[in-house]
Amino acid sequence: MNKNDIIRLSIEDMTSDGSGVGKAEGMVIFVPDTAVGDICDVRILKVKKNVCYGKIENIIEPSPDRVDPVCPVSSRCGGCVYRHMSYDAELKVKHKKVYDAVTRIGKVDGSKVTDIMGAFEDKTDRYRNKAMIPVGLNKNGEVEMGFYSHHSHRIAPCDDCLLSPVIFTQISDTFKLFVTKYPYLIYNEEKHSGKIRHLYLRIGEETGEVMVCIVVNGRSFEHQYELFNSIKEKYPHVKSIVINVNKAKTNVILGYENIVVFGKESITDVLCGLKFELSPLAFYQVNRTQAQRLYEKAKEYADLSGDEVLIDLYCGTGTIGLSMADSCKQLIGVEIIDKAIDNAKRNAKNNGIENARFICGDAEKAALQLKKEGITPDVIVVDPPRKGLTEKLIETIVEMNPKRVVYVSCDPATLGRDLKLFEELEYSVKEITPVDLFPRTAHCESVCWLSKG
Ligand code: SAH
Repeated sequence: MNKNDIIRLSIEDMTSDGSGVGKAEGMVIFVPDTAVGDICDVRILKVKKNVCYGKIENIIEPSPDRVDPVCPVSSRCGGCVYRHMSYDAELKVKHKKVYDAVTRIGKVDGSKVTDIMGAFEDKTDRYRNKAMIPVGLNKNGEVEMGFYSHHSHRIAPCDDCLLSPVIFTQISDTFKLFVTKYPYLIYNEEKHSGKIRHLYLRIGEETGEVMVCIVVNGRSFEHQYELFNSIKEKYPHVKSIVINVNKAKTNVILGYENIVVFGKESITDVLCGLKFELSPLAFYQVNRTQAQRLYEKAKEYADLSGDEVLIDLYCGTGTIGLSMADSCKQLIGVEIIDKAIDNAKRNAKNNGIENARFICGDAEKAALQLKKEGITPDVIVVDPPRKGLTEKLIETIVEMNPKRVVYVSCDPATLGRDLKLFEELEYSVKEITPVDLFPRTAHCESVCWLSKG
């Protein structure tokens, strides 16, 4: 098989990152934007030893799972890998991704995996409460705003992302008019010249408060009050306008310093009945409704009666632990980013929670320290990044002898790996619930309940 060959392919499976898979001439071929059951002509783009990557040229017979993708840029932007499939079909793929990972890698009994918790009331669009929108000029000198295409720094123009609330589209239109008037203000990545790099928007879904944050190569930009005043006038929900200073020659979007130019330094949202302050740098789940349902499930698995000592490892700004603080005796949260710990402490205070303590540090080291201090947790919640837990941390958790462990995971493969070790160390998996926190995208969360013995 060679580059640019066109072959007819039947799509038989999906990868965990949402690509269709077919087989021809002894090769496995990955084709994005296809669905199981598609018969299509595929152009081969890249040939490796046993696998090829292709691009759909023509659909000969569509899969029964196919729907109209609605979004005009979905295939270029690469964010929504399941736009061309029905939501039911997407949920099946995601369930299978979790099921396969925990049964194959984790050797967990498949009957422990429940149905997937799909989007509440099937709200698969406009669920995000945060958007980072790069701004640039194209070859013709026209303003482009949208998303970076998959694995690149090219902007796939998109004026209305279907995952974002309508007010984000409106504010971004106002912003676009401004930068179109003063295009020289736009940052140029290659030359490291110009000022305006990104438009970053956040909304507190429950309160309706909106934050507009402009990421700037500097501390201000010309005509800035023209922009700020028009945003303030048009959108009364905007309660905070901030300049985020990022003068570095880097791909990292946000800098450390924030200058408040209008209103408050953070906006507020309500999650699981508690108030949380969202400053530009504070981590917050992007799909609040589904996060709430995920945390409720985690709380159900923690099965607290009011007397327990609860440790929340990888606690971020404290959301999971704080949502359980009313049902336990003592809460200890651990997180590596000091700003997040400051937020967690403030979140506890703002909600009148007095039985919480937060430690800034690496989860593995902090767990060892807590063990040395003689803390005997009844329940440990973990919510690690994609790479999962370390063996040492799992061993320390087991040595602390909690009755239950609740594992919130954003990567089924590392969850599977870690569950295997837990089971070897006499903690058994009672139940795993996959939760779709990010409809239309490839990601899938799950929450797992482990019990001693
Ligand atoms: N539980 C939180 C955040 C989960 S994201 C929530 O639901 O909102 C994972 C968190 O783990 C991030 O906040 C990240 O900063 C933190 N983290 C990453 N590596 C860590 C480590 N080695 N020790 C402690 N925390 C870590």
